[in-house]
Amino acid sequence: MITTPRSGHPNQPYGATPRSASYGRARRGAELAPASSRPAALIPLPVFTDRYRDVTDRRLAARLAAEDLAEEAEELSPHERVTCRLHRRWMHQCVASPQHAIAVTGHRWCRRCEVALNVAVDELTGTVALTCARCRLPGSGPANRQVVRTCRASIAAVRAVGEPVRALAS
Ligand SMILES: [Zn+2]
Ligand SMILES: [Zn+2]
Repeated sequence: MITTPRSGHPNQPYGATPRSASYGRARRGAELAPASSRPAALIPLPVFTDRYRDVTDRRLAARLAAEDLAEEAEELSPHERVTCRLHRRWMHQCVASPQHAIAVTGHRWCRRCEVALNVAVDELTGTVALTCARCRLPGSGPANRQVVRTCRASIAAVRAVGEPVRALAS
């Protein structure tokens, strides 16, 4: 068996199919003014949503905050989230990022070839497909099924809150 590191290192960029959701680093907002500089009556309670105050999509921000709380309370596995704490996006929008290919757990990972799986996300149909570019087989195993399941749930969550399906606009 090959035990040396191969080209499919998690820190290397992986080619995603054209339909894959793009991802990028979210901008971090400026810190709030120190509480001591504001009138006491106007000092807000330290609500948990402060962490995502600069996330434009407030429904996403609320879901991010709720899942953070559930995760910190050990009620939600980080792998069951439909929002991504790292990229601050819906899961299906950043699952193509190299950080979502985890060799240790087998998430978005081909055990056979030891490479990250490519992701094809179709928000219109709600389909999510994981495919290995090397052996051409679909992703298998519980971790990869979990990735597909959470991405489908993420697409469904976006639809549930009524966000328009941009790809249909012409
Ligand atoms: Zn992410
Ligand atoms: Zn493979």
